[in-house]
Amino acid sequence: MKKSKPAVETKNLSIGWGEVNVLNKLNFILNEGEKLAIVGPSGSGKSTILKILAGLILPTNGELKIFGEKQTYLRLDQNNPPDVRLVFQNPALLGSLTIEENVGFLLKRNKNLSKEFIHEKVNECLADVGLFNVENKLPNELSGGMQKRVSFARALITDQTLNANTKPLLLFDEPTAGLDPIASSRIEDLINKTNDKANGSSIVVSHVLSTIERTSDKVLMLYGGKFRWAGSINEFKKSNDPYVFQFRYGKLDGPMQPKDI
Ligand code: ADP
Ligand code: MG
Repeated sequence: MKKSKPAVETKNLSIGWGEVNVLNKLNFILNEGEKLAIVGPSGSGKSTILKILAGLILPTNGELKIFGEKQTYLRLDQNNPPDVRLVFQNPALLGSLTIEENVGFLLKRNKNLSKEFIHEKVNECLADVGLFNVENKLPNELSGGMQKRVSFARALITDQTLNANTKPLLLFDEPTAGLDPIASSRIEDLINKTNDKANGSSIVVSHVLSTIERTSDKVLMLYGGKFRWAGSINEFKKSNDPYVFQFRYGKLDGPMQPKDI
């Protein structure tokens, strides 16, 4: 069997604004099916990595390959975009569209798909995240938690114009920030379920320990533009590395200090 290409491969990936190098020559590989957590304090550049992977911004230097294809354009300018789905921290639903229109947004662009087909697919994805009879509602008629579920349903929709066997790259930016522990657990379950269902690879950006531990099998620690530590989730739980230790226990002493940010 042909060896599958990594979902993500970067070489010296860098981005800066003005004088500041926010990401400084980052190298990492995410193999297909792997679940990675990128962790680090606020402002370390985690969202910036996800935005580059989602094709919303371009790196200043370095190379990015997604499923083996070199990425040189913004996603909107690509003819054959890779299947990358970003779930934002806030649900980012379009307020004047119904839930069905929000979730089915991608499919509607494809004129070959019937209304009935889209309706069925949307309802399937909504049911997968535990939502029923909400398709005709507007986002502001749903609770915050339900809106969040809708944003996961949207990430489950497969763009029919892409290869049907596509294995998506799923990106989650701070999916549990500001949630209580129980709501967090539900979202973590949903991340795993979404990932399994989509048969994808995932990157979760988070500073919530339970989220990191429950949704990932590998961890990268980002600070000062560089990866300071890499390892498995079990190593992360036990490591005495000064960065990991400071992060895990929220210590003020350690290598990460406000002046460096
Ligand atoms: P994180 O998600 O880890 O909190 P971000 O990726 O949002 O961090 O931001 C990393 C750094 O890059 C921050 O210092 C932020 O101020 C800066 N930054 C992000 N986007 C821009 C931008 N468009 N212009 C200038 N600076 C930016
Ligand atoms: Mg962020």
